[in-house]
Amino acid sequence: MKLAERLLAGSLLIVSVLVLAVITIAGGRLRSRLAAEQRDELLRDARLVATMWRPGADPDAVADDAGRALNYRVTLIGTDGAVLGDSEFTRDELRGLENHGQRPEIVAARSDSVGSARRFSASAGDEELYVALRHDPRGFVRVSIGTRRFDQIVRGAQQDVVLAGLIALVGAILLALIFARTVSRPVTELRDVAMAIAHGDLTARPSLSAPGEIGDLALALHEMTEELARRLHALREEDALLTALVDSLNEGVLALNDRREVVRINERGRRFLRVTTPVPFPSDMLPRNATMREAIDAALAGEATEPAELQLGGHTLVVTARPLEGGGAVAALFDLTPIRRLEAVRRDFAANVSHELKTPLTVVNGFAETLLHDEDISPEQRRSFAQTIVANATRMQRIVDDLLDLSRIETGGWVPEPVTVDLSGVVADAFTTVERAAHAKEISLVAEVGRGKRVHADPTALRQVLCNLIENAVRYTPSGTVTVRADEVRGGTWIRVRDTGIGIPPEHLSRIFERFYRVDASRSRTEGGTGLGLAIVKHLVEAHGGRVQAESQPGRGTTASAFFPNEGGS
Ligand code: ADP
Repeated sequence: MKLAERLLAGSLLIVSVLVLAVITIAGGRLRSRLAAEQRDELLRDARLVATMWRPGADPDAVADDAGRALNYRVTLIGTDGAVLGDSEFTRDELRGLENHGQRPEIVAARSDSVGSARRFSASAGDEELYVALRHDPRGFVRVSIGTRRFDQIVRGAQQDVVLAGLIALVGAILLALIFARTVSRPVTELRDVAMAIAHGDLTARPSLSAPGEIGDLALALHEMTEELARRLHALREEDALLTALVDSLNEGVLALNDRREVVRINERGRRFLRVTTPVPFPSDMLPRNATMREAIDAALAGEATEPAELQLGGHTLVVTARPLEGGGAVAALFDLTPIRRLEAVRRDFAANVSHELKTPLTVVNGFAETLLHDEDISPEQRRSFAQTIVANATRMQRIVDDLLDLSRIETGGWVPEPVTVDLSGVVADAFTTVERAAHAKEISLVAEVGRGKRVHADPTALRQVLCNLIENAVRYTPSGTVTVRADEVRGGTWIRVRDTGIGIPPEHLSRIFERFYRVDASRSRTEGGTGLGLAIVKHLVEAHGGRVQAESQPGRGTTASAFFPNEGGS
């Protein structure tokens, strides 16, 4: 039942009980008060009548006159109890009336001078109230009245009370309605707002129009919600900051609660552990790696762990875990893969260099020793041996030169000094270095670079880049065409060297810019390659803020390209 309905029902009940109580209690009292008052009045009237009953006066005439004047029944009774006059009976009828000497009011008046009684009167056909007054020496004056009048008065009063009760009821209903409007409605609204807030809707606000304590309550709720929203906002901001912070870390970070659930994990952590399930999720869903699980178990048991290395999904990771205050643990994963790869590259590099230098050194050593110890060598042989030694020494020289170039660029000892360069001049320059080789293989060299085409680059570096690319193109093309083109795009220029040579199988294409990477090592060597040309190109171009790429179709040709950004771009 609603508050307003309860209020209405309550007030109706109170008014009804009040009306009933007034009717029963006040009705009874009113009746006895009326009787007492009437008795007094009747007594006063009896005294008046007594003054009229003088010696010699006709008692019946006195009774008739007084009865008419007072509008009561007036009876004059002799000391012997005989009725001498009565306003309700004629003189003849009087004689037929019985002796009144034993009537209770007369008996009482005889002894106390005043007597009263209430009883049914057969002659009046009604309950009557009698008051008798002793009037010595003539007898008694009795005045009486029917009590039906009292009942009428009491009933009238009761009807008034009922009417007043009805008016009170209407008033109560009106009051309840007003109450519903001013109290019940704001209370209901407050309840709805409080429930909305409890369900997480912090935009809900109570209206502040209610008066009194309800208004105070609404204001308190309003302020509480504001404060709650403010704190929640601050918490969310803090959480967002923390998430951004943790996500920006290079380490993978995950936090577990004491129920072994992962409650937070950053992007890096998800990538390392290959989990996409939204948090929270049970730690069983993490990869089954013994090292990691041991670390997490130890931290959950309250023990910080030393960094431990593990292999996961092709990554070398280091995991450290420590317990959290108040239960749970946090684990950090650091990716060692690039460091391990670098170490491998360094190892490979040393092996590669040794390997590259070993063959020509052996050759030089062998031939030099033969020249030194073998006396029976013909002058032609001697000449040929010496040429071999020179050729291998030159090869070693080239390798060492290339390595020196590379290390200079890599260690930052060389910094490009870009200027605006006329590309067609540099291309023409580079062509001259391969002219002989191209001519021998019947390769035509084509420059599709307009005169005056400008590039923003270090001139020496640009020249080396073009030379290396064109040398490769000629080296790996049995016959055909080598074309150099410049494509201006947004932000810079792509310089493309296209050949019609042997091409590069797709599986090698992504690796040809690595040091000493060759598709066909012996072919490269016989053609005079060091395996470092494209690595140098890549480093030089990247030092300019550019990039390199190669496209190829085996058997049909290759296009190697270098992008040089415009001045101010990268
Ligand atoms: P190299 O001195 O061996 O040419 P590079 O670093 O210049 O070394 O090139 C690496 C490898 O890439 C070469 O050994 C060759 O296998 C391949 N390559 C480079 N350019 C071309 C090309 N234009 N056509 C075919 N293969 C190429």
